[in-house]
Amino acid sequence: MLEILNVTKKYKNGALANDNISIRVNDGEIYGFIGPNGAGKSTLIKSIVGLHSFDSGSIKLDNLTLKDNQIDFKKKIAYIPDNPDLYENVKAINYLNFIADVFDIDKEKRTNLIFKYADLFEIRDSLNMPIKSFSHGMKQKLAIISALIHEPKLLIMDEPFVGLDPKSSYDLKQIMQEFVAEGRIIFFSSHVLEVVEKLCDHIGIINAGKIVYDGSFSKINADKSLEDFFLELTENEKHN
Ligand code: ADP
Repeated sequence: MLEILNVTKKYKNGALANDNISIRVNDGEIYGFIGPNGAGKSTLIKSIVGLHSFDSGSIKLDNLTLKDNQIDFKKKIAYIPDNPDLYENVKAINYLNFIADVFDIDKEKRTNLIFKYADLFEIRDSLNMPIKSFSHGMKQKLAIISALIHEPKLLIMDEPFVGLDPKSSYDLKQIMQEFVAEGRIIFFSSHVLEVVEKLCDHIGIINAGKIVYDGSFSKINADKSLEDFFLELTENEKHN
């Protein structure tokens, strides 16, 4: 279980980007995190993955608290940012092997996982090419494969569907469902509300740094789309 409890983050310029946020995501859930631009999504994601500190509150995965168990916590998670920075001059296969080395994954296991996902995303033939020759979508696929190699308990993704063609989006959705079917957790942000509506067991809406909805979407209103609901809850805020 992922437990975010009363997390507050204020930037040095005074922006209160996350105001007392509490979210609990159970094992086996896909959590869709949505909100207008500037609402505070990336700020919370960066806190969960330990990219910056936060002022108060706690973040816990199973029995590990981020602040007290940084290394063990990070071993159990994977993070795919919205615009992954990869080593451009390295061949894709060498990059994946490097990540597998970092997490100490044995040869047989890494080979199986790399080829399984490279076949699914149809980039196996490109694995011997330097990453700089990859398109944005191919880089996104490579980042997704690298996140799956150590079989994390929690997968966090910022806008994972941006740049993927329809077939790759479909494949990613399949991978996400397979991932949580094993009792693991996905936490992702997206502006593609149709995908969130279809894919997520649990959604969170953040507006101006505060959680304005946290729960199952299907229970809200059978007649209402997630888009209508989202706009109702967030329309009073400035969209930048
Ligand atoms: P989202 O991901 O939902 O678009 P962010 O978390 O990036 O929102 O931003 C939330 C708020 O925090 C915004 O007001 C933004 O301007 C501010 N902010 C984000 N990053 C920084 C930063 N590094 N320094 C100062 N303010 C920031």
